[in-house]
Amino acid sequence: MIFIGLRLCCCSLLIGAVLLSSLPAGSMMSESREHTIEGGNQSPSFVWPISGTTTPDLPQSSAYGPRLQAGRQFAYDYHQGLDLPTPISTTLVAVMTGTVRIAGSHPRYSDGVVQLDHGNDLYSNYLHIQASLVITGQLVGIGEPVALSGSSASGFPHLHFEIRQGGTSRAHAINPLRYLPYTDTVSHTISITDILPTNAVWVQVSAPAYELDINRVTLVVRELATNRVVDQRVLDYEERNRMYNGDPDLLDIPDLDDILIQPHRFTSSSDLYVVDVNFHDLAGVGPVEIEACAVDVHENAVCSRASGTFYQRIYLPTILVSPSSAGEL
Ligand SMILES: [Zn+2]
Repeated sequence: MIFIGLRLCCCSLLIGAVLLSSLPAGSMMSESREHTIEGGNQSPSFVWPISGTTTPDLPQSSAYGPRLQAGRQFAYDYHQGLDLPTPISTTLVAVMTGTVRIAGSHPRYSDGVVQLDHGNDLYSNYLHIQASLVITGQLVGIGEPVALSGSSASGFPHLHFEIRQGGTSRAHAINPLRYLPYTDTVSHTISITDILPTNAVWVQVSAPAYELDINRVTLVVRELATNRVVDQRVLDYEERNRMYNGDPDLLDIPDLDDILIQPHRFTSSSDLYVVDVNFHDLAGVGPVEIEACAVDVHENAVCSRASGTFYQRIYLPTILVSPSSAGEL
């Protein structure tokens, strides 16, 4: 058999510079809003696990979602909670009234853990604890002590705090800022940093270290000639955790579904949480307009637009010539 494969690649110059621009007033831009979120959908408000108040525990040394883990030479992984540095033996309190489901240890966890059941399939997890102050089945009121903090295997003293919704597995971990109270200043940003002729777009999102509430990055590709939407992508932090948590090795791959995630280093002394996202293998040919939005857990969207040019590779079909059929018509 003889295979004759033809492959054409349209390679020419990227026409037009990348234009960074924001949406006009009245669109999804929402830089100046500020409101206090009181316990997500629940009432009364949750409190934070260290202070026991509605003022966020700061600093925080890891956001929910993709990160470079300081304790492992800044290797990429996917984080199911918030890391709150605090000296060993700090008293940790119930973020909401609940029933103790796990008190100190559990086969699923390699470390000390307290898990509270708040009803409505909502759970909170206190990990790396040194000691539990409660027993299984005990009712605890909001703000009551439940554990003493410890440190992770890397020796870093902190509380790893999670909220899980809809079930108790890792796949159910959501961004705790859905429920923990804070003043949402909508201070996250997004910029389109590159549009590549290979049909890929780089965007950069950031959030201040005191407001780690980004949950979704969306991308829309329109062909400029027709204004037709030719591709749409969504990177949803919680959804990615739900989809791929059955296999943590898969979740810890930074490039899934043609979306490559590159977090910057972030520690308790960082001012900004920054993540570069590369959406690749996008559809579209010729001049395109890109709209990218960063959406926080309370659906506040901040968007940016830019235009550039795509040169999608064109593959001609493979022509198969079989000796047995070569002489037949
Ligand atoms: Zn952690």
